[in-house]
Amino acid sequence: MPENTVTPPAGRLVLLNPGPVNVHDDVRAAMTSPDQCHREPEAAALMARVREKATLLSGGDDSCTSVLLAGSGTAALEATFSSIVPDDGRILILDNGNYGERLWRIVDVHGIPHRRMEFGWCNPIDVDAVDRALADDPGITHVGLVHHETSTGMLNPLREIGAVVARHGRQLAVDAISSLGSERLDLRDDNIDWCVGTANKCVEGLPGVSFVTAPRERLEQLEHVRAHTFYLDLHGHYISQDRLGAPLFTPALQVMTALEAALDRSLDEGVQGRGARYDALAEQVREGLAARGVRFLLPPAERANSVTNVYVPDGMTYDELHDGLKAEGYVVYSVQAQLGGVFRVANMGQLDATDIEGFLAAYDRVVGKYAGPGI
Ligand SMILES: *Cc1c(COP(=O)(O)O)cnc(C)c1O
Repeated sequence: MPENTVTPPAGRLVLLNPGPVNVHDDVRAAMTSPDQCHREPEAAALMARVREKATLLSGGDDSCTSVLLAGSGTAALEATFSSIVPDDGRILILDNGNYGERLWRIVDVHGIPHRRMEFGWCNPIDVDAVDRALADDPGITHVGLVHHETSTGMLNPLREIGAVVARHGRQLAVDAISSLGSERLDLRDDNIDWCVGTANKCVEGLPGVSFVTAPRERLEQLEHVRAHTFYLDLHGHYISQDRLGAPLFTPALQVMTALEAALDRSLDEGVQGRGARYDALAEQVREGLAARGVRFLLPPAERANSVTNVYVPDGMTYDELHDGLKAEGYVVYSVQAQLGGVFRVANMGQLDATDIEGFLAAYDRVVGKYAGPGI
């Protein structure tokens, strides 16, 4: 348990962690929908609508559909990566950060045949090396990629990798959990076979529901692939939701109601519109911190539009910075131990320029206490 002795001010906390995010009032209000039974037609209709809207947001057409899972993003990741690789297949995991490592951990724990390509944290994925690996090893049937590697804030080259994987006739499974909704991503144009998303990051819903979007043909083919788990059997969930019109197990209906409201808002704003809004907020964070002499982890061209990783200023610890900011109502986020001394400022969710101004002013007050005279 992390010790938390900080009392934030009453009222809204500004979440600058990479999800869960500050949500729109409409999304929160949707949680208080009337009580319902998950095996009634209205629940089936809700699930059908959410599946369709999730598919639209991922750029899927009528030949694609989505499967909903109760659980955080990792539930949908585990359902996907433990369900799609047949016993005589093998998955190539592309790993350049914490979430790439998570994909590897999932296939490893389920005993899925795999090969892990490690590029190192903060290093871009070498697309030519992926191309060569696929050319050299016809036994690889699938490739696993994280689109936005949230640990470092790096946006990986989805389109280029999708083209390479498709050219070699293999399947691409993408963790799009922290990119879907705000970064350009399109199931068809990017040659994605399996796209994993979640409610509570750039889709701006609440935590508790995640989903997988795929061409129906791919989901149908899972009939011939052995499931490795009972609860997260992707084919079982697909058949249940798509053919039987009922969930396999009790879904998080209220969170799903909120997800529908969030998807409506996402589709209204559009991925491009949301991307532009996030770009502007990220720019404000980055310019503001650059003006304060902060060092960035990644060069600008490699950064996603929703996370900025920077070094904690000299003379103070991450905890001091975090606690000082939290006492003022702003929550920043640490990074895994591999990147000691770095912290993250995310700009996902319902934030505006005033929130970022407020954060920068609070940053000055907190850092000022440690930096001493002269700064
Ligand atoms: C947040 C995140 C996840 C899932 O984390 P959960 O805590 O299970 O929601 C997976 N992959 C990426 C890239 C993420 O940013």
